[in-house]
Amino acid sequence: ESSYPEVQQIENTLQEMNDEIKAYILQLENEKRVRQEFFSNASHELKTPLTSVRGYAELLRAHAIQEPAQVDHCLDCILDESDHMTRLIQDIMAISKLETGQLEVKREYVAIKPLLEQVVKNLSVNAKNLRFRVLCQDIDVYADRKHMQMLFNNLISNAIKYNKPNGSVLIQAYHKKSDFVFAVEDSGIGISEEDQARIFQRFFRVDKQRSKSIPGTGLGLSIVKHIAVTYQGTIDVNSKLQEGTRITVTLPIYTTNKEFQNEKQMTE
Ligand code: ADP
Repeated sequence: ESSYPEVQQIENTLQEMNDEIKAYILQLENEKRVRQEFFSNASHELKTPLTSVRGYAELLRAHAIQEPAQVDHCLDCILDESDHMTRLIQDIMAISKLETGQLEVKREYVAIKPLLEQVVKNLSVNAKNLRFRVLCQDIDVYADRKHMQMLFNNLISNAIKYNKPNGSVLIQAYHKKSDFVFAVEDSGIGISEEDQARIFQRFFRVDKQRSKSIPGTGLGLSIVKHIAVTYQGTIDVNSKLQEGTRITVTLPIYTTNKEFQNEKQMTE
C-alpha cells in the first residue's frame, strides 16, 4: 500500500481495469465456446441426413433394390432427407445472420395485419384439417420486416405441426401500451414442464424419435428467442401435456398508426 493518495488511486483504477478486462475475456471465451458447440452440432445434424442420402443412393446404384415400389420408397427418402438438409441450412443461416446483424437491425414501419394474414394463408394451405382463428389489430410496429415474418412463421408452423387432428390454432396480435404482443395458441400435444425449459436450446426437439416423422430442425424456437432478445422483449410459454400450448412474445416496438401516417407524409 502506497502512502501517496495519488498512487493509491492509480493502483485502484488499474485494479478495476484489470477486473473488467478479465470479465471481458471470460465473456469472449464463453461466446467462443457457444459458437464452437453450435458449429459442431450443426455439422453433426447435417451429417446424419447426408449419410442416409448416400446410403440410399448406393443401394440404388448397386441395383440392390429392384422392386418399383421399393425404388420409389428409396427415392422418397432421399427427397425427404434433402428437404431436411435445406431446412437445416436455412435455419443455421438465419441464426448466424441474427447473431452478426444484431447491431444493425433494418427497422421500418411494418403493418402487421397484411403480413400476418399472408403468413397464415401460406401455412394453412397444408393444414386443411385445422381450424384457424386470427385476431389481429390494425397496428404498425417499428422493426425489421424479416424478423416479424420469421417470428410469425416459426410459432404458427409449430402450432400446426404439434397439433392434433381437427385441432385449432388461435393467433393474436395486438398492442398493450407501447408493447407489441404476438401470441399463438394450439390444441396440440403440449410440452411437459421439464421440456419447457429446454425448447429454446439450439437443436433441441422433444423426444427425437417420435418427432422424426414431423419435419423440423430444433432451431425454430432458438430463432424466436433470438428475435425477442434483439428487441429486448420477452417470451412466455404456457403448456399442458395433451391439452395444448400458448406461446406469447412481447416486444417493445409498437407504434401508432398515426405516427406511421405522419412519417409517411414526411418522407413523401
Ligand atoms: P422444430 O423445428 O423441431 O419444430 P423448434 O425449435 O421450433 O424446432 O421447437 C423445438 C421443440 O419444441 C419441437 O421439436 C417440439 O418438440 C417442441 N414444440 C415446439 N412448439 C411446440 C408446440 N406448439 N406444441 C408442442 N411442442 C412444441
